[in-house]
Amino acid sequence: MSSLDTFAAKKLASLDAKHLRRTLVDTAREDGIWMLREGRRLLSFSCNDYLNLTQHPKVQEAAIAAIREHGVGAGASRLVTGNHPLYAQLETRLARLKDTEAACVFGSGYLANLGIISALMGRNDLLLVDELSHSCILAGAALSGGKTLMFHHNDVAHAEQLLHENRELYRHAMIATDGVFSMDGDLAPLHELAALCKKYDAWLLSDDAHGIGVVGGGRGSSFAHPPKADVDLQMGTLSKAIGGYGGYLCASQTVIDLIKTRARTLVYSTGLPPGTVAAAIAALDVIEYDPNYAIKPLRKAKAFTARLGLPEAQSTIVPIVISGTEKTLSAARMLEDEGFLVAAIRPPTVPLGTSRLRLTFTAAHPDAEIERLASIIGERILNKKI
Ligand SMILES: *Cc1c(COP(=O)(O)O)cnc(C)c1O
Repeated sequence: MSSLDTFAAKKLASLDAKHLRRTLVDTAREDGIWMLREGRRLLSFSCNDYLNLTQHPKVQEAAIAAIREHGVGAGASRLVTGNHPLYAQLETRLARLKDTEAACVFGSGYLANLGIISALMGRNDLLLVDELSHSCILAGAALSGGKTLMFHHNDVAHAEQLLHENRELYRHAMIATDGVFSMDGDLAPLHELAALCKKYDAWLLSDDAHGIGVVGGGRGSSFAHPPKADVDLQMGTLSKAIGGYGGYLCASQTVIDLIKTRARTLVYSTGLPPGTVAAAIAALDVIEYDPNYAIKPLRKAKAFTARLGLPEAQSTIVPIVISGTEKTLSAARMLEDEGFLVAAIRPPTVPLGTSRLRLTFTAAHPDAEIERLASIIGERILNKKI
């Protein structure tokens, strides 16, 4: 064995011992919610395709038409020749949805945060990040070289204390947080964080990957508690409720102009395929055409939490924290035996000792199946028979 293979084998053995090794499983998606996995048909409560738009005929047709017209790939970075005309349309639509002057589309949500944060922040700057924020916010912070401090989850007083103690030592400051927390489903206190940013001259970035399309009437977490929260940098992804792929930032024209010339994940990475951009435009059409559609998944999540007496769902994501990784995995296996695909989420995605089942609700989930899932979880998991 080479030293590289020895290293990999040791690492894998240590992950196995802690039940933390992850493997890929072939999963064919039949439609928005039914999956085929290892010869079985399972109802998925694990997709972020909240509006089932991955399978929507209008969205699929738009992608196919764009491929026929513009080709499969963008051919180059957007700044070279990859900026096909669909980009401008999509950016106008996103800016309108988010009520900002402008928008910039990236290759993915992950790439967006890497590019945005590292373009705006540098060595002499201070980043305050909610401790439960998505991994790509931390990756962006690390790439920026700025001083990064974590504040306790949704704890505005702690964020203020850190600003109070550190702000004057740095040039610029940013607070970065998920708008909807991806593994907990709760919302960030954006109004309070925005007020804090005003007071200490800091910039607020909210990652709305799980907000766009489903929270705040489809406009995202900045719109969840009107009036709109004053978020300088509203970023998010087109890969969840929007059903396709790609990331975005909505902000002022000046900030977007800077991002388009300086964000390295935009400058040095190929533009999104035209079909993907067309799909996102068609998905926004579907959402804007029927405002009652966007509220369906959240309504289903709320019905589920009410049924089990859990804290009311604030988004389409409902966690059931089990704590131990082994127990969480066996709970997921039990649900799979019952025909449900529910993700077991383990560290390092969530903090140690908080392994959980993560349920996501979509517009197309049948109420009767939600009821069957609730009764099984109520009897066999919440009543600790497992
Ligand atoms: C999924 C997710 C991302 C990454 O988005 P991709 O488009 O999948 O790269 C970023 N932030 C949060 C909070 C997410 O849940």
